[in-house]
Amino acid sequence: MSAKVRLYVEHPLGAGQSVPLDRDQAHYLFGVMRLGLGAQVALFNGRDGEWQTTVVEAAKRGGVLECTRQSKPLQMPPDLWLIFAPIKKARTDFIVEKAAEMGAARIVPVTTDYTNSDRIRQDRLQAHALEAAEQCGGTYVPEVTDLHKLSRLLDDWPKDRQLMFCDEAEVGNALELAGEAHRNAPWAILIGPEGGFSDKERQRLQALPQSHVVSLGPRILRADTAAVAALTLWQRALGDWT
Ligand code: SAM
Repeated sequence: MSAKVRLYVEHPLGAGQSVPLDRDQAHYLFGVMRLGLGAQVALFNGRDGEWQTTVVEAAKRGGVLECTRQSKPLQMPPDLWLIFAPIKKARTDFIVEKAAEMGAARIVPVTTDYTNSDRIRQDRLQAHALEAAEQCGGTYVPEVTDLHKLSRLLDDWPKDRQLMFCDEAEVGNALELAGEAHRNAPWAILIGPEGGFSDKERQRLQALPQSHVVSLGPRILRADTAAVAALTLWQRALGDWT
């Protein structure tokens, strides 16, 4: 039987391993979910796959789970970064949550010439990515980085990483993600802010040898919609949905 409750922990997981719970985890399992001794809980830590565990100690402020069997191996997503310019809080949260569900390996918020928000709460966004992984059955939690400057990121752009540059100026052009030659390469998707990209940024991005300029169809999409659309297209064409 597999557990209905799934939790991320930092602790190592393995056959017979005891996993201590902190106060918040104990509150969630025993207070909110009303689990007791002998209950089943699925755990993952982003390194050891998913493990089925049994509650062997349950208290208000702590508890212990014991690993019984591995129910999933570690499944790494493709080496795909989602780079995006933060927008309003709830929509930024949405982008992070969807990127984690849809299999981005790293989530990179950036400031651009027309970014509306130049501050993020990295810890809060990381917690959203973690919750999304708990919900969707993922065994890997993507890292959410601190805010970077897009121009700096491009200064040090890795030679082998291809870039799906989603450019609203291409609206209405045919979608072409001619990335087949780079199927096994590392990739990144870039989504701009509400204000779009400046001409200077556009010229720089177009000149980047690793850049693949892409249209997302005949309509201008909001940045959060564009992120989901681009992740879908990339995963279908080059990622682990094929
Ligand atoms: N203010 C810009 C304008 O009116 O042209 C629109 C920016 S759009 C809300 C936010 C981001 O989503 C864009 O920078 C781009 O990365 C992406 N995007 C939205 N629609 C797109 C499309 N049809 N093709 C390519 N990228 C698109």
